[in-house]
Amino acid sequence: MILLENLSKSYRVDGRDIPALKRIDLSIAAGEIFGVIGHSGAGKSTLIRLINLLERPSGGRVLLDGVNLTELSSDALRKSRQKIGMIFQHFNLLMSKTVAQNVAFPLQVAGELDKTAINQRVAELLELVGLADHANKYPAQLSGGQKQRVGIARALANNPKLLLCDEATSALDPQTTASVLQLLLEINQKLKLTIVLITHEMNVIRSICDRVAVIDGGEIVELGPVTNVFLHPKHPTTRRFVYESEHVDETTEADDFAHVPGKIVRLTFKGESTYQSHLSALARQYAVDFSILAGRIERIKTTPCGQLTLGLVGSQVDELLSRLADEGIVVEELRQ
Ligand code: ADP
Ligand code: MG
Repeated sequence: MILLENLSKSYRVDGRDIPALKRIDLSIAAGEIFGVIGHSGAGKSTLIRLINLLERPSGGRVLLDGVNLTELSSDALRKSRQKIGMIFQHFNLLMSKTVAQNVAFPLQVAGELDKTAINQRVAELLELVGLADHANKYPAQLSGGQKQRVGIARALANNPKLLLCDEATSALDPQTTASVLQLLLEINQKLKLTIVLITHEMNVIRSICDRVAVIDGGEIVELGPVTNVFLHPKHPTTRRFVYESEHVDETTEADDFAHVPGKIVRLTFKGESTYQSHLSALARQYAVDFSILAGRIERIKTTPCGQLTLGLVGSQVDELLSRLADEGIVVEELRQ
């Protein structure tokens, strides 16, 4: 649905071109929730603003459903932007307008519906985001989570195919974040809406995204399904994000087990195998003793996943490991 080809963006600062994004190649499929994570200044906002051409690229192309946005006339671009909704960290609501008037605004600008139809559409949208009872309040009378719900209703007003979210939950507390993310997931499923979401929080990625790109210094340093990136992070930046969010001390994974006898392995479970008893059954069968050195079991979006670091002692450890591998469990030997 979205295709970014060799996309770059530099900003001219004090007469010099400073690159903010370098050679980005990315494709995002219709219906997916695609996350982009990176530290402050990594280029996330620039990337999302290039997708709807709020910024013009210095090089490369942006294709939306096969149409090259960089070549459109400003009129055609305005039309195709109506198919892209956007929400922001600080909501960007009109403070002197009510909730209903904020949501009606993009419909009035589009000029396709009469007053009755607009009122009806606004009521529908407020119902969808759970604000039916707050139509006549002003933004100042709402909580942060409610303000973002207004932002979402407004972004959806013109039936976009794509929703861009720039740090949409970064100003919210964890519980409110979770409820706004659930709303985004519901909308994604109900309306078959494609969502691109940028964040600096790994938890946001883990709870609703299908795939993730990690961006660092204006480049995509890692890209893949969220489960893969979480369970097998490769780039140092990704590893830092994952280990911070999981409260894992990376050094304990490798160095701290000098006193533990036997072989040290890390097992990764994904999907159904996470909740099955392969390990204990096979350990019994092969008379292997194991100690659990580190571990985590969690859900990544809807997939159960687990990772255990074990010390293994016994004469048939290798047989045990090859049987686990047969069951689809990823076995990594950390120490022979
Ligand atoms: P993020 O959203 O990941 O925090 P941004 O995309 O906002 O990062 O910024 C990426 C880089 O581009 C930063 O170094 C930032 O200072 C620079 N930058 C962003 N917008 C502008 C601008 N309008 N003029 C000059 N530099 C900019
Ligand atoms: Mg930003």
